[in-house]
Amino acid sequence: MLRKTYLWHRISEARSMKITFLGTGTSQGVPVIACPCDVCTKGSKKDHRLRSSVHIEQDGFHINIDAGPDFRYQLLRENIKKLDAILITHCHKDHIAGLDDVRSFNYLYKKAMDVYALPRDIEAIHREFSYAFSEIRYRGTPDFHTVPIGHKNFRVGNLEVTPLPALHMKMEVLGFRIGDFSYLTDTNYIPGDTLARMMDSKVIVLNALRKTPHPSHFCLNEAVKILEFLRPERAYITHISHLLGFHEEVERDLPDFIHLAYDRLQIEV
Ligand SMILES: [Zn+2]
Ligand SMILES: [Zn+2]
Repeated sequence: MLRKTYLWHRISEARSMKITFLGTGTSQGVPVIACPCDVCTKGSKKDHRLRSSVHIEQDGFHINIDAGPDFRYQLLRENIKKLDAILITHCHKDHIAGLDDVRSFNYLYKKAMDVYALPRDIEAIHREFSYAFSEIRYRGTPDFHTVPIGHKNFRVGNLEVTPLPALHMKMEVLGFRIGDFSYLTDTNYIPGDTLARMMDSKVIVLNALRKTPHPSHFCLNEAVKILEFLRPERAYITHISHLLGFHEEVERDLPDFIHLAYDRLQIEV
């Protein structure tokens, strides 16, 4: 096992991944509709957050983690012309609502979009997009090829993906580790096994909603403590609410290796 991990690290070092933060906001996004707070009304560009998602590219192979309600706009904004697969963290609307828009890639490639998700989340996708799975389908409905995943490593193209199971209150969610990059959002509890899977990542993305505790999301202090324990080279906070405060002010008080992510941020791992 150790040898396998070592080999994988050697391989992953050779090819860097480009990661684009498509969205870094919580389920309502920031600004929140009709909210009069300072962050929503006076925030800078970095305070404007679409629903959380990242786009990963390595050697011309493109994947998204999640496809929330802003999926279409996010892909247009970043001029993304290719998408080979989508990994789903969990079936809440802010992570799957945009799936209908895979149609563009269905037309382009004349094939179904590969969507990797827990069996429970595949069921939810069948429910939410029932028209895409019905026996008599209208022309132009999205075409999904759903692939059930669990806690075991799986391959997407040339990428080896390690699932990072965690809890979102009582609901299981998955984060994903690809090479030296770990991405885990919408959690307030990470079991020891998953912490071990995240260990030695060069870059970790973790969620923090606001400064005060929350029943289903880490607050900022909790996320910082976990990141200090895992101590990657760099860490980024995502799934941020308007209640966290202004980006620039919160960023100033964080330990040097931890940053608030913001929409359109690009990093290489
Ligand atoms: Zn969410
Ligand atoms: Zn607000």
